[in-house]
Parts: sequence; C-alpha cells; structure tokens
Amino acid sequence: MAGGDDSGNLLATKKPAKVEQPKVIAAEAPKASKGGNVDENAILVTGATHARELLSMQVPMFLALKLLHQGVTQDKEKYQQMLATTKFHFVPIVNVDGASFVEENWKESHKIVDKRKNMNPANEGTCDRENSGVDLNRNYGVDWEAENGKNATDLCGDFWPGDKPFSEPESRAMRDYIGANRNELKFVINCHTIGNDFIWPFNGREPNDIDDRAPGYLAIFQDIAENAPFPDGVMKGNSYEVIGDKMGGDADDYTLTMRPSGKGEMNSWLTILGEQVKKHAKASSKASKASAKETSSEINPLSIIDAAYAKAKQAHAVKVRAEEREKKAALRAAAAKKRAARRAQIGRASCRERV
Ligand SMILES: [Zn+2]
Repeated sequence: MAGGDDSGNLLATKKPAKVEQPKVIAAEAPKASKGGNVDENAILVTGATHARELLSMQVPMFLALKLLHQGVTQDKEKYQQMLATTKFHFVPIVNVDGASFVEENWKESHKIVDKRKNMNPANEGTCDRENSGVDLNRNYGVDWEAENGKNATDLCGDFWPGDKPFSEPESRAMRDYIGANRNELKFVINCHTIGNDFIWPFNGREPNDIDDRAPGYLAIFQDIAENAPFPDGVMKGNSYEVIGDKMGGDADDYTLTMRPSGKGEMNSWLTILGEQVKKHAKASSKASKASAKETSSEINPLSIIDAAYAKAKQAHAVKVRAEEREKKAALRAAAAKKRAARRAQIGRASCRERV
C-alpha cells in the first residue's frame, strides 16, 4: 500500500482554542453502515501496527485459535459462554506491507529488520526502506498537531507521523472499520510489544484529561489494571505515566473518541468468523457436540498448538527450577566462601597472637 489523500475526512486543522479542546478529526463511518449492532457485545483485538513487533500479531491469532479450540472442538463451557455472549473481531496485522517486508527479509537473510513504520514510499529517496514510511500509531486524527511537532522534523525517525492525520491507508482502514462497527464494539485492544505495559487513553495529554473527555472510562481501565491477572512489574497508565512520553495521533485515543452514538448494522467480513463460531456454540445440543468432537478428533491441528503450549510451559517450569537451584547453589557457595575467609582470618589472628 502507498500513502494517499483523504482530505474529505479532515475537519479540524485550525489552531487549538484558548482552552485546550480535544482535536478530533471526524470519525465518519462509511455510508453503507450505521455502526454495527448496538445489542452485540463485541471486542476487537488488533496486532502489528508496528511491523517489527512480531509477537503482537500472534496474540490475536492465539486468542482466536484458543476460543475455537476450547469453545468448539473441546466443548469447554467457559469458552462457549464467552462465544455465546461476545462477538470477537480480530485484525492480526494492521501494518500488512510492513509485516510483509519483515517476512521477505527474514526469508532472504534470516534477519528481523528493524522496521516499525508502514511502507509508504514517499520518503524512500531520503531514507532507506527500513526507515521510510509513516508511524501508523501517530497518524490518527486526535491531538495530531498538538503533540507531533517533535516527531514531524525527522522523516526517517521511528515516529514520523505523516504529512497530516489519516494520510495513510492503514489508519484510514482502521478508522472506517471501527466506525462501521462502533455501536457493537464495547472494547478494543491494540497489541504492541514495547514492554510489560498496560496503556490506556489519553496518550496525547499530560495530565491525562480522560475524565473530561470520556467520563466514566478511567474507572474501567483502572478496574482492569487492578483485577486482571497481569504479571508482576507491569506498568499501568497513559503513555506519559508509563513511558514518560506524550503521543499525538494515537490509535487508542482515537478509538475512544469513536464511542457508540446510535443504532447500526453489522457489515464486515471480519465479523463472519465470530458469527459462525457463535452460531455453532449456540446451536450445539449435547448430541451435536458429541459428533463435532468426533469429527474434530480426526483432524485437529489445534490440539497440536495445545500440546506445544503445554510442552513450552513445562520446559519453562524446568528452566525456572534449574535457575532457582543455580541461584541457591551460588548463594551457598558465597556463604561457604565467606565462612572460609572468616576462618582464615581467625586463623591468621590466632597466629599473630601466638607470635
Ligand atoms: Zn508498537
């Protein structure tokens, strides 16, 4: 994909008013859609906004497979319940061309190139292919001008935000997709691999003015931060609180400005998977579940994933135990060394006494 123009959607290009108001480019949903089914509880999980963040695309894929495996082929009630009550949207790779570039390089040289941005070729004369393109997570139409000044000077840097908000087809596609489903999407998770962080909007402001701009939402994020089973050491807050930086044109921020505004209809092929799975889970009687299980046991590649996961988990546990043993042995050795040194000192002291 190449960069393009979409000036029809740009409404806010004036200077900020005296009191800082949220600068939001209109989130117009495509005409064919009214924004998804308001009665649905849908969740969207995206990955690979940044090409080199390979794990971020595996998370949505793993979640999709886990739901299918546990809920459909393994008949686990917990997952069937989730599938029956929630619609899942997955966009595993937002930055498709960047991810493809990483893949090509891997095939050629077995190196993971340090490609973050998209493949917009506009600046390829100035930057090499690895460092050209636009940072898609700085290209959304909220706080774009206010906070991107520092990034807008470095064409080849990691954070080049593009010439204007939504200059890129990928950010436009996500805007339109979310807009088309905004009434049913109750939560959106954009996966990255920057670190052990749980980051929530608004990222383009310090202090975070989320209570003014999206009243009631901070409590939801804080509830998740407190109660979700995050590993120890996970940082939580907006980007300034977590990484000490304000990010203009951020996807999370923009998504929160697209909160539901009315009734609509569902219209995307990406929702078909969720719909099919949900129908299957709903319609399954005990008998049909048994037959589905029978069929799935014949060809069940998903069980291979489960087995691999269990094996990896076991290997990790073995490694952790070995590391603990090593640590204890090292502590014992250090203590023994200390004791020996002390004995030698006492020995020397008593020698001196004898002299
Ligand atoms: Zn990222």
